[in-house]
Amino acid sequence: MIKVLDQNTINKIAAGEVIEKPSSVIKELVENSIDSGATAITVEVKGGGLSFMRVTDNGAGINKDEVKLAFKRHATSKLVKVEDLLSISSLGFRGEALASIAAVSQVELISKTADDVTGIRYQIHGGAEISSEEIGCPNGTTIVVRNLFYNTPARKKFMKTDATETSYIYDLMCRICMSHPEVSFKFIANGTDKIFTSGNGKLKDIIYHIYGRDITSNLLEINAENDYLKISGYIARPCISRGNRSFEGYYVNHRYIKSAVLTKAIEDAFRTFVMIHKFPFTEINFDVKPDLIDVNVHPTKMELRFSNNEYIYNFVYDTCLKALKSKELIAEVSVPEPANAVKEPINVVKEPEKVVEKPANPIKANDCRLTAQRLPEPFEIKRSQQMVREDKVKYEEERKAEAPKQLNLFENKLLDESSRNKYRIIGQLFETYWLIEFEDKFYIMDQHAAHEKILYEKTMERLHNKTMGTQMILPPIVLSLNMHEEEIYRNNADIFKSLGYEIEEFGGSEYKVTGIPAGLPKMDYKQLLIDVLDGLSEENANKDPDIITEKVASMSCKAAVKGNNRLSFSEAFELMDELMKAENPYNCPHGRPTLIMMSKYEIEKKFKRIV
Ligand code: ADP
Ligand code: MG
Repeated sequence: MIKVLDQNTINKIAAGEVIEKPSSVIKELVENSIDSGATAITVEVKGGGLSFMRVTDNGAGINKDEVKLAFKRHATSKLVKVEDLLSISSLGFRGEALASIAAVSQVELISKTADDVTGIRYQIHGGAEISSEEIGCPNGTTIVVRNLFYNTPARKKFMKTDATETSYIYDLMCRICMSHPEVSFKFIANGTDKIFTSGNGKLKDIIYHIYGRDITSNLLEINAENDYLKISGYIARPCISRGNRSFEGYYVNHRYIKSAVLTKAIEDAFRTFVMIHKFPFTEINFDVKPDLIDVNVHPTKMELRFSNNEYIYNFVYDTCLKALKSKELIAEVSVPEPANAVKEPINVVKEPEKVVEKPANPIKANDCRLTAQRLPEPFEIKRSQQMVREDKVKYEEERKAEAPKQLNLFENKLLDESSRNKYRIIGQLFETYWLIEFEDKFYIMDQHAAHEKILYEKTMERLHNKTMGTQMILPPIVLSLNMHEEEIYRNNADIFKSLGYEIEEFGGSEYKVTGIPAGLPKMDYKQLLIDVLDGLSEENANKDPDIITEKVASMSCKAAVKGNNRLSFSEAFELMDELMKAENPYNCPHGRPTLIMMSKYEIEKKFKRIV
């Protein structure tokens, strides 16, 4: 028998599309608060959001006689005409959120507009109205959502642990804070303050608050504008990178949205600066003219499409690359505090649920032997510490004290013609590192990485310009390849040829190599070819001349610098000079840094000359 479903069931089904988990509720409610013009928004959750979520704002409020309507599907004050659907500012405004949330939870709404003397308290459970009454309350709106999915147990089963759901909400709140620095946000989970932003409009302050000092002191500002697109925000120097995309934040017209083109443009710009499979830190807002946007996609999918991908790609790629090249990309390192020097405990929060207190130091201050053993590795590059201070006041004070020193580093470039006679090479360490003093900074150069980079750029240039020609070798190298290697070689034979290789089939699976690219650094050429073919099979790269050229160059340079440890001072100077000429001197071809830096300020702080 065919039956028409009742409205409640229809709403529950529709809710599944919009409300997937507690963080989806928070996203919808907070976006509504932002749309209402609020300047302060507080979000509180308990039990991963499943038992309790509350969003309070000081925005415009909802008119008493419109509250019921607000909970109806397709009821919205934001869409006026059908064309609005095509503009980005209305992306996600389909008048579905409140109806969907109310269908699968127990909602209580309290709201008052500035024009009204009293406000309204409205309760709706599983889509059914429970009560509606006038009450006294401040201007703005509070929405409490209890027992999410209480009437859709099948969906509830899909929820992760409370801690995981809270971490999704935490991540979402970080994104929202970054996309609206002009709004003051507070996020409380299970009674603990997790995030509090001032709403002063400064994105950098929020990055500091959420990610801590190491990332903040490695930021590069980006700002660019053309007729259709404005790009603003920060990217971090490549020394700050992650194994996944969790640090890649960007927003379109202040909404957290995904776009394959934007992701690709950003990552491509970073490609030569970060190691393979590492992703950059970015917090970028794109203000895009509606003409460029194709929003005909599902609102919760968050995937945005542009009408002219190439245009967007080029502008974003160029802007990021320019920022990366404009400043000296030397990782700043800091020496962690020895355990016994910590005065106040600091909460280090990775996941919001797990607040790890620094343990009180069990070692007596005068026990030198034990203390020495407990000292952490010096010069550790901190990559991803998220720090949340208990005492906010303290954070503000410290930020003010540190800001001018910490945030304006790298004004003069070490690797610049004008700095040539101004730095002092102190000496060599461990037959590998060179210590350099320049202005109020202390640098350490990895001679292998530097040497490798210089060779690499020279080799790449020659390979690209095809100025290498062929160098004949006697006796020829005989290679026997397995089936897979043979296939890769055959598919790319013409590319190897164009690089200067002369390779003949020798019968069976054997190949005879009689010529190699001229001017390759001295090394085991047979091993080089095997490494290149191996590397290609991993990357599945057929018929891409760039990848092969890059492989030949990077592998050959790596091989060339091995074991060549003793350098004189004048050779070290020469190395610095050569590095200066390199296009991207700050990373070796495999992404490791060639130089790291510590500021005098940081050193003086460690010695407690500066408190
Ligand atoms: P949409 O946001 O797509 O319009 P919603 O279901 O999220 O749909 O909200 C319905 C309407 O309720 C909104 O258009 C707005 O008028 C009103 N509203 C919801 N939340 C708030 C809020 N926090 N402050 C003021 N008005 C709100
Ligand atoms: Mg909404």
